Amino acid sequence: MNWDRDKVQHMASLLRRQVNADVNVDHPLTGLNSWKVGGCADLLVRPRCLAAAQQLFALLAAHRWPWIVLGSGTNVLIADAGFPGVVVQLSHLKHIKMLTPGQYHVEGGVSLGELVRVCAERGDSGIEDLAAIPGSVGGAVVMNAGAGEHTFGEVVTGVHAVLNGQPAYFEGAELKFGYRSSAVGPQMCILAIEIQLQTTERDICVSRRKQALEYRKKAQQVFQPSAGSVFRNLPGTCAWKLIDSCALRGCKVGGAQVSPQHANFIVNTGNAAAADVAELIAHVQREVYRKTGVPLETEIRYLN
Ligand SMILES: Cc1cc2nc3c(=O)[nH]c(=O)nc-3n(C[C@H](O)[C@H](O)[C@H](O)COP(=O)(O)OP(=O)(O)OC[C@H]3O[C@@H](n4cnc5c(N)ncnc54)[C@H](O)[C@@H]3O)c2cc1C
Repeated sequence: MNWDRDKVQHMASLLRRQVNADVNVDHPLTGLNSWKVGGCADLLVRPRCLAAAQQLFALLAAHRWPWIVLGSGTNVLIADAGFPGVVVQLSHLKHIKMLTPGQYHVEGGVSLGELVRVCAERGDSGIEDLAAIPGSVGGAVVMNAGAGEHTFGEVVTGVHAVLNGQPAYFEGAELKFGYRSSAVGPQMCILAIEIQLQTTERDICVSRRKQALEYRKKAQQVFQPSAGSVFRNLPGTCAWKLIDSCALRGCKVGGAQVSPQHANFIVNTGNAAAADVAELIAHVQREVYRKTGVPLETEIRYLN
C-alpha cells in the first residue's frame, strides 16, 4: 500500500493526539540500521512507555495500518524504497527491573549488551557469552541471538507482547526457540520479557563477560558497516567455509562486498545501496549452489 502525503500527515496528527509517542514523518532509516542503507519510513513512531506502546498497536490494528518493528537494526536489510507504513521502535522502553534474585523484567528496547552488563554486575549468570552481540532485547528474542554455547532463548521465561493489537503473554517454551529463530511472527511485537539467571559470584560473571568482549574483538576484525553473519550455518558446515571454497571472499556488487576479513559478512564499503547488498546475497547463494549444491539460507531479515 502506498499512502499519499495527506494521509501520512493525517495519521501523524492522529497518533500525536492519541498516543504518548515521538512521531516522525518520512524519517530516514539509514541511520537506524547497522548496514547504513535503506530509504525512509512513512512514519517512525517511538512510544514513550509500555502503556503507550499498547495503545499504539491497538490503534494500528483498528485502522489496519501496515507496521513493522525495528529493533536496533543489526540483523535487517531495509529496502532502498524504505517502508510504506509505520515503523515502530521501542528505543524509549529501556527499564530493567529485578523481580527476585536472578529474575528480571526487561523492556524490549534495552540493549542486550547493557542487560548482560547489569546482570553480571549483580552476579547473575547465564548470558555473559552474549555480551558482544549488538541489538535490542526484543530483537534478541526474535532471532534467538547466540554466541559460544549459549542462546538468549535459554533464559527467557516469559514474553509480554501485543498480538494483532491485543495484549498477550507467552511462556518462554511457547516461543519454540531454535537456531537463530523463534515463533515470533510478523503480527507480534515484544514489549517486555522475563528472564531467569543463576545467582553466583559477581567476579566470575564480570570476568566471563570481559572474556566474551575480548574474544569478539580478536575474532571479528570487521570495521565496516555490516549485519554480522548473513547466512545460516548448516549442520556440520560453516557458511563462511562454503563461501570461501567458492572463492567469493572479497566479491563486490556496487558498494557491497563479501568481507575480506570474514566471508560470512557482507560489508558496506561506503556507498552501498540496499539493492547492492541484496544482489550480492543472491549472487553468493547462486554461486554456492552452483558449485556445491548447498542452498544457503539467510540469517538476516528483509524489511520491506
Ligand atoms: C557486527 C555484528 C555482529 C553480530 N553478531 C551476532 C552473534 O554473535 N550472534 C547472533 O545471534 N547475532 C549476531 N548479530 C546479529 C544481530 O545482532 C542479532 O540478530 C540481534 O539480536 C538483532 O537485534 P536487533 O534489535 O538489532 O533486531 P533488528 O535487526 O532490528 O530486527 C531483527 C528482527 O526482529 C524483529 N524485531 C526486533 N525487535 C522486535 C520486537 N520488540 N518485537 C517483535 N519483533 C522485533 C524485526 O522486525 C526483525 O524481523 C550480529 C550483528 C552485527 C552487526
